[in-house]
Amino acid sequence: MKPFTYEVADDLDSALAVLNNPPRTLKAGGIDLLDRMKERLELPETVLSIGGVEALRYIREDGGAIRIGCLTTLADIGRSDLLKARFGALHESAGRAATPQIREQATLGGNLCQRPRCWYYRSIDFNCLKKGGGTCYAVEGENRHHAVIAGGPCHIVHPSSCAPALVAVDAEFVIRSSDGESTIKAADFFKLPHESMYAENVLEPGEVLAEVVIPSLPSRSATVELREKQSFDWPMATATAARVGGEWRVCLGAVAPIPWLSRPAMDVLGSTEITPELAAQAGEAAAGEAEPMSQNSYKVQLIKVAVKRALLAAGGESEV
Ligand SMILES: Cc1cc2nc3c(=O)[nH]c(=O)nc-3n(C[C@H](O)[C@H](O)[C@H](O)COP(=O)(O)OP(=O)(O)OC[C@H]3O[C@@H](n4cnc5c(N)ncnc54)[C@H](O)[C@@H]3O)c2cc1C
Ligand code: SF4
Repeated sequence: MKPFTYEVADDLDSALAVLNNPPRTLKAGGIDLLDRMKERLELPETVLSIGGVEALRYIREDGGAIRIGCLTTLADIGRSDLLKARFGALHESAGRAATPQIREQATLGGNLCQRPRCWYYRSIDFNCLKKGGGTCYAVEGENRHHAVIAGGPCHIVHPSSCAPALVAVDAEFVIRSSDGESTIKAADFFKLPHESMYAENVLEPGEVLAEVVIPSLPSRSATVELREKQSFDWPMATATAARVGGEWRVCLGAVAPIPWLSRPAMDVLGSTEITPELAAQAGEAAAGEAEPMSQNSYKVQLIKVAVKRALLAAGGESEV
């Protein structure tokens, strides 16, 4: 690892005052950032840690909404009785991600802003499109974990387990900088590669994702993740089903460069009660958008299964 200066912020305001002046690299839990620094993918001069700012670590009810601070850990979310009762889909996604040790350190903000897991991106030996090169090596190479929906010219999948649940319920993200605060819908936070090749979200230098707000809690929700192994790995495909304002919403994870709101599945569902037949139809509809690469057509079946199981779990029926 290249030597760097390490600074520790006492609060968010003091961090924002210096974050872009000169540019510093933000660290929350450090799980993803330190990985990239050790691989020499990132060589920051100065790392600014907000990891100890306890004021950014909370889950609270505010009127009818739930507010979650960016430094809330995945373990905090997995232990929250409030989220278990009111937003099971997020409680489940965060509570099962990675490993117990990682969940104690990994923060919600860092989870949503973690960089892609594409093995070509993670290796300094491949100067692919995302790193300013001229080729996406996944197109002709190893692409079994890559996107089957909305890929191209880069074919990453978004790695966050928490993001699909938040997009499914139309959560809002509060962004702060030294100039002030703005709020953006979760679905607008994430960017496709053709919109933004070098960053996966809208954050500009000097901006921090400070808080996640869920203004309308789902009456029912569930997330189903299909994994090769149950721990120490990212899922191969996920689906969150949530009933918000009487309408069903379905968001897929690990199959597209952003958490993917499945409009075809939602068109099938509307506000109807879930039956096994309807859940299967929604799964088929969701999978209809897939355009697999040479090695990942298995994900088409996983989408069907994940959507069906998530709907049955959220709709009150057991998984089949
Ligand atoms: C073996 C293993 C298995 C894993 N499995 C899963 C899994 O199943 N599901 C899953 O979702 N993840 C998984 N992960 C990834 C892990 O959950 C993330 O690396 C972690 O959540 C990142 O959070 P952090 O707080 O450590 O972020 P950091 O490493 O501190 O930051 C990550 C990035 O986000 C930026 N950042 C951090 N916080 C903010 C903020 N508030 N505003 C703006 N930018 C910010 C940082 O600058 C950095 O670029 C796994 C990791 C490992 C090592
Ligand atoms: S999928 Fe994206 S990150 Fe991976 S090799 Fe292609 S351009 Fe690079």
